[in-house]
Formats: sequence, C-alpha cells, structure tokens
Amino acid sequence: MKAGGPAGAVTLGIDVGGTKMLGLALSDEGEILAQSRRASPHPAATAAGHPAAVHALVATMGELAEELAAGLQGVRALGVGMPGLVDDSGRLRFAPNLPAGDDLDVAGRLRGRVGLPVVVDNDATCAALAEWTLGAAAGATDALVVTLGTGIGGGIVADGQVLRGAQGFAGEIGHMVVDPSGPLCTCGKRGCWERFASGSGLARLAREAAHAGRLGSVVHLAGDDPDAVRGEHVSAAAAAGDTEAQSVLDELGWWIALGLSNLAQVLDPGIVVVGGGLVETLTLVLPTIVRSFAEMLEGADRRPHIPIVPAALGEQAGAIGAAVVAREDRRGPGAPTSGL
Ligand SMILES: [Zn+2]
Repeated sequence: MKAGGPAGAVTLGIDVGGTKMLGLALSDEGEILAQSRRASPHPAATAAGHPAAVHALVATMGELAEELAAGLQGVRALGVGMPGLVDDSGRLRFAPNLPAGDDLDVAGRLRGRVGLPVVVDNDATCAALAEWTLGAAAGATDALVVTLGTGIGGGIVADGQVLRGAQGFAGEIGHMVVDPSGPLCTCGKRGCWERFASGSGLARLAREAAHAGRLGSVVHLAGDDPDAVRGEHVSAAAAAGDTEAQSVLDELGWWIALGLSNLAQVLDPGIVVVGGGLVETLTLVLPTIVRSFAEMLEGADRRPHIPIVPAALGEQAGAIGAAVVAREDRRGPGAPTSGL
C-alpha cells in the first residue's frame, strides 16, 4: 500500500449511480476543492453492451473528471465507484443496475481519455471506506455499511480490514435471496433483498398497498393512480402523520431488519451504518428497524447491543471513498495511512 502522494496533491473521485454521477476533487488535507454532478445515461435508452450506451457512459464520466480537474494543480489519479461486480483490474463484470456498464473495462477506457491513473471499485465498498475512514464507523474494527439506494450495496470491515473476497466481489448483499418466490430482480434471480428493502423496494411495497386500497390519501397525492405512487409520496405522507403511509414504511423497516439480522449473525459487526439515497427516510423507519432487528437477531438479549446508525457523509460518501481508493492506489485491505 502506498501512502499519500506529494503535499498539495489532489485526487478525483466519481460515484456512478443508476440515475446520477457525483464527482469531487479531494485534497490530501481532506478538503473538497470542487464538486459536480451529471445524470447517468438512462438505463431505458442504454441496452447492455451497446456501443452508443458504452460511449455515453464513458464520455459522461470523462467530462465530469475534466470539469473537476480544470484549474487544479497536482491531480494525481481518478477513482471511480461503480454499482456491481468490479474486478481487481477495474473491469465492471456485472452491473444489473447499470446496463450500459455491463462487462465494461472502465479503468482502461477512462485512463486513455483522462490521461490519469484510474482505479475502479465497487460503489458501496467506496462508501464504506469513507464512512470507516472519517464517518459514522470511524474507529470500528468490525462494521457493516449498508447503502440503500435504487438497489442495496454493502461494504464490510472485518478484523480491521475491508473485506474483499477472492475476486474483489465481497459485499453484494443486495442480491441475497430473502424470498425465493418473490419478485424478479434486475440480476435475474427472484426475491433478492433489494427488491424489498431499497428505494425501488419501497416503491413496490407502496404500489402493492395502493392497489390493496390501503393508501387513500397517498394515491390522491399521486394523481389518483395507484401505479404512480412513489416512495417519496409515502415518506412525505408518513412525515405528515399519515398512519397508513407509516405502516408501509414499517413493512420496509421489517425487510431491512431481516437482511441486517442475517448479516449480523454472519459478521458480528460492532456497528451497522445505513446510508444511501433512502437515508432521508431513515428517521421514519429506524425505530422499526431497531425493534425488528432485536427480534430477529439470534440471542439479541445475550449479546452486546449492536448500534444501527445513519451514515455521516451523506451523498458524498461514495465519491470521497472513490478518491481515497485511488489516492492510496489500493484494492487491498487496511485503513488509509494518511488522514483526510
Ligand atoms: Zn438480485
């Protein structure tokens, strides 16, 4: 593992999501010198492996990197967090939530375009690294960082190291099957955890409730069309005291707790950090998660309490972590040696 580079150096980090990309320039002192965002090329218009889709994805990342680097001295590397299975060479092997990126040599394509060393890692692993380095899991030797967005990503710190597995694919917790007869997932399987416990999972639970006639005022908010009900409608109504909406959020919380309790039994984390796009809804869901987690966890009353806390770095976590991965030129274990 290399320590940080020369004093005053800057590393770029880009977090690529299913709907948007967030990029930033991070100084070695931990200062965010520039930040920008782009819409990700829309999945509906981007068939897997289609040359135009691949080109649009790479071009958008390249433009974002160039914008971030403009006017900055000492830019040494670009780190990119991608959703899906990223191998140690920086190739995205499988990307169910980003079809345009499926089997794409992200590092190779970007290196040629931006003229910088490029390190690519899983987006949730990047977010976990950031939360572990300077966020809600700072100081923990064993932590589970769960990113609830369009899907679910995970980053695992075990025995003071980021757990990567044999190929670098560890932490794909969103595709644990929790209901073999459940709804079809983007990965091709049925009943994956992220079909129930993510932002898209909330939307599905809400539409089911709407069709069952349980969400009268929320359906009205959505223009009296049950199929138009989105997670935001439910969260807004619950925040305003709508008990039917809160009951849907309680269902969501139960599903989140189901996966967390299974993972806690395998990993024995000292802390569980929950972040991602759904985190704004978390205050409404957290009490149910904590209660259900304690009910489902083996011997919960015989072991130390496992705190479940919101992420501290918000939507910047993935991009900060991507910059840290590139700065340290690391796809290996261990915490960064230099402070942010
Ligand atoms: Zn799946």
